Amino acid sequence: MTDQERKYTKPKFNSGWFKHQKTGAENPNWKGNKAKHSGLHCWIREHFTPESKCEICKRDNDGSTLFDWSNKDHKYSRDRNDWQHVCRKCHINYDIKHNVVKPGRKK
Ligand SMILES: [Zn+2]
Repeated sequence: MTDQERKYTKPKFNSGWFKHQKTGAENPNWKGNKAKHSGLHCWIREHFTPESKCEICKRDNDGSTLFDWSNKDHKYSRDRNDWQHVCRKCHINYDIKHNVVKPGRKK
Protein backbone atom coordinates (compact mmCIF):
# COMPACT_ATOMS: atom_id res chain seq x y z
CA MET A 1 0.00 0.00 0.00
CA THR A 2 1.35 3.43 -0.93
CA ASP A 3 1.14 6.46 1.32
CA GLN A 4 -1.40 7.90 -1.03
CA GLU A 5 -3.67 4.90 -0.65
CA ARG A 6 -3.30 4.88 3.11
CA LYS A 7 -4.47 8.49 3.22
CA TYR A 8 -7.74 7.54 1.62
CA THR A 9 -8.23 4.29 3.45
CA LYS A 10 -7.68 5.52 6.97
CA PRO A 11 -10.45 8.15 7.27
CA LYS A 12 -12.92 5.66 5.88
CA PHE A 13 -11.97 3.16 8.55
CA ASN A 14 -12.04 5.80 11.26
CA SER A 15 -15.43 7.15 10.35
CA GLY A 16 -16.88 3.66 10.35
CA TRP A 17 -15.44 2.96 13.75
CA PHE A 18 -16.57 6.33 15.07
CA LYS A 19 -20.10 5.85 13.78
CA HIS A 20 -20.28 2.47 15.42
CA GLN A 21 -19.01 3.76 18.76
CA LYS A 22 -21.28 6.78 18.70
CA THR A 23 -24.35 4.69 17.99
CA GLY A 24 -23.58 2.36 20.86
CA ALA A 25 -22.84 5.11 23.36
CA GLU A 26 -25.69 7.44 22.51
CA ASN A 27 -28.35 4.95 21.67
CA PRO A 28 -30.06 4.60 25.08
CA ASN A 29 -30.61 8.33 25.58
CA TRP A 30 -31.41 9.09 22.01
CA LYS A 31 -33.91 6.27 21.79
CA GLY A 32 -35.48 7.32 25.08
CA ASN A 33 -36.04 10.87 23.93
CA LYS A 34 -37.46 9.82 20.65
CA ALA A 35 -39.84 7.34 22.24
CA LYS A 36 -41.02 9.98 24.68
CA HIS A 37 -41.69 12.45 21.91
CA SER A 38 -43.56 10.15 19.55
CA GLY A 39 -45.40 8.66 22.51
CA LEU A 40 -46.80 12.08 23.31
CA HIS A 41 -48.02 12.56 19.77
CA CYS A 42 -49.79 9.22 19.98
CA TRP A 43 -51.36 10.33 23.25
CA ILE A 44 -52.51 13.61 21.68
CA ARG A 45 -54.14 11.83 18.75
CA GLU A 46 -55.94 9.50 21.13
CA HIS A 47 -57.18 12.11 23.60
CA PHE A 48 -57.88 15.22 21.55
CA THR A 49 -60.76 15.40 19.10
CA PRO A 50 -59.68 16.65 15.67
CA GLU A 51 -61.23 19.96 14.67
CA SER A 52 -63.41 20.27 11.59
CA LYS A 53 -61.56 23.41 10.59
CA CYS A 54 -57.98 24.63 10.78
CA GLU A 55 -57.70 26.72 13.92
CA ILE A 56 -55.62 29.33 12.11
CA CYS A 57 -56.93 29.76 8.54
CA LYS A 58 -60.34 28.08 9.10
CA ARG A 59 -59.90 25.81 6.11
CA ASP A 60 -62.19 22.78 6.22
CA ASN A 61 -60.63 19.57 7.40
CA ASP A 62 -62.17 17.69 4.48
CA GLY A 63 -59.31 15.30 3.89
CA SER A 64 -57.89 17.27 0.97
CA THR A 65 -54.94 18.42 3.03
CA LEU A 66 -52.94 17.10 5.94
CA PHE A 67 -53.83 18.29 9.41
CA ASP A 68 -51.42 18.27 12.31
CA TRP A 69 -51.52 18.80 16.01
CA SER A 70 -49.26 21.78 16.57
CA ASN A 71 -47.95 22.60 20.02
CA LYS A 72 -48.24 26.33 20.60
CA ASP A 73 -45.37 26.89 23.01
CA HIS A 74 -43.37 23.75 22.24
CA LYS A 75 -43.34 22.62 25.81
CA TYR A 76 -45.34 19.59 24.74
CA SER A 77 -47.66 19.54 27.71
CA ARG A 78 -50.82 17.45 27.65
CA ASP A 79 -53.06 20.49 27.97
CA ARG A 80 -55.45 20.87 25.05
CA ASN A 81 -55.13 24.68 25.35
CA ASP A 82 -51.47 24.40 24.46
CA TRP A 83 -52.27 22.66 21.20
CA GLN A 84 -53.96 23.65 17.98
CA HIS A 85 -55.28 21.45 15.21
CA VAL A 86 -54.13 23.12 12.02
CA CYS A 87 -53.54 22.34 8.38
CA ARG A 88 -50.00 21.45 7.37
CA LYS A 89 -49.47 24.85 5.73
CA CYS A 90 -50.39 26.77 8.90
CA HIS A 91 -48.39 24.37 11.01
CA ILE A 92 -45.25 25.08 8.98
CA ASN A 93 -45.94 28.84 8.95
CA TYR A 94 -46.56 28.81 12.67
CA ASP A 95 -43.32 26.97 13.37
CA ILE A 96 -41.35 29.34 11.13
CA LYS A 97 -42.95 32.36 12.78
CA HIS A 98 -42.08 31.04 16.20
CA ASN A 99 -38.57 30.11 15.19
CA VAL A 100 -39.04 26.41 15.59
CA VAL A 101 -38.17 25.70 11.97
CA LYS A 102 -35.84 27.95 10.04
CA PRO A 103 -36.97 28.46 6.43
CA GLY A 104 -35.01 26.31 4.04
CA ARG A 105 -33.35 24.35 6.79
CA LYS A 106 -33.53 20.63 6.44
CA LYS A 107 -33.86 18.39 9.43
ZN1 LIG B 1 -54.63 26.45 8.08
